[in-house]
Amino acid sequence: MKMNICLSLICVLLLTGCTTMDAVTGRQTRNFYSLQQDVELGSQVYSETVAEMKKRGVSINADAVRTAQLKEMVRRISAVSNLPDLPYEVTLIQTNIVNAMAAPGGKIMVYEGLWNPKDGLVKDDDELAAVLAHEIAHVNCRHSTEAMTKALPVNLAALGVTLFTKDTKNENLGQLVSAGVLIVNNGIVMTRYSRMDEAEADTIGLMYMAKAGYDPRAALRIWERSAQHHAGSDPASSIFSTHPADAVRLQNLRTQLPAALTAYDTSPYRRAL
Ligand SMILES: [Zn+2]
Repeated sequence: MKMNICLSLICVLLLTGCTTMDAVTGRQTRNFYSLQQDVELGSQVYSETVAEMKKRGVSINADAVRTAQLKEMVRRISAVSNLPDLPYEVTLIQTNIVNAMAAPGGKIMVYEGLWNPKDGLVKDDDELAAVLAHEIAHVNCRHSTEAMTKALPVNLAALGVTLFTKDTKNENLGQLVSAGVLIVNNGIVMTRYSRMDEAEADTIGLMYMAKAGYDPRAALRIWERSAQHHAGSDPASSIFSTHPADAVRLQNLRTQLPAALTAYDTSPYRRAL
């Protein structure tokens, strides 16, 4: 009986609570989480990732000059994004993993294998901006919590059963929601983005970087190079594993390049040159 109440509440919640306007497209989308929850989840994922890295002997790179450079790039790109007021943060992590990732809400991690003066995959600021803009686009499109929303009915239903068998006294809506957060800790937030999400982040990111005054032609270079890098590396440590750079993707970027170049030419940063 209790479980039925539980599941009914979940259904009501899912039917009523998750239609929201997508800041990027202006369309209604299903997202069970509020923007504030994106921020909270992101902070949680970030601190857990850093703690996990520390456990494995990996630390944050505290180089003041490089950190300041990263911060400035994220500031420029996020300022022209659809959600400029999120508490964006960027951290450089000292490991040779060739990747970057963004947690929901704007916490971005760049790994040194992607960006270091000696042998990082990116060769200049524009290429680094392409990766950062792509990540900031994922944040603006709220791809993580949208994917979690899609996975929620199944997971919460399973969770309802768990709570019911564990403790019949205390289950309530608040617990279910926080239990949803616990599921996040078990990895759902790290769900790989769908191809559609990747394509959207490419399109939106290309415009963000161009508006922020970074040359959008660099996006083609870096995604092409990441594909080549993937060919000769451990897929688990490759940017390719989370950002597949196939022919279709490069073709899409080529198609969108003229519009991005126009935005680049008229960027306030370009006019200031
Ligand atoms: Zn991506």
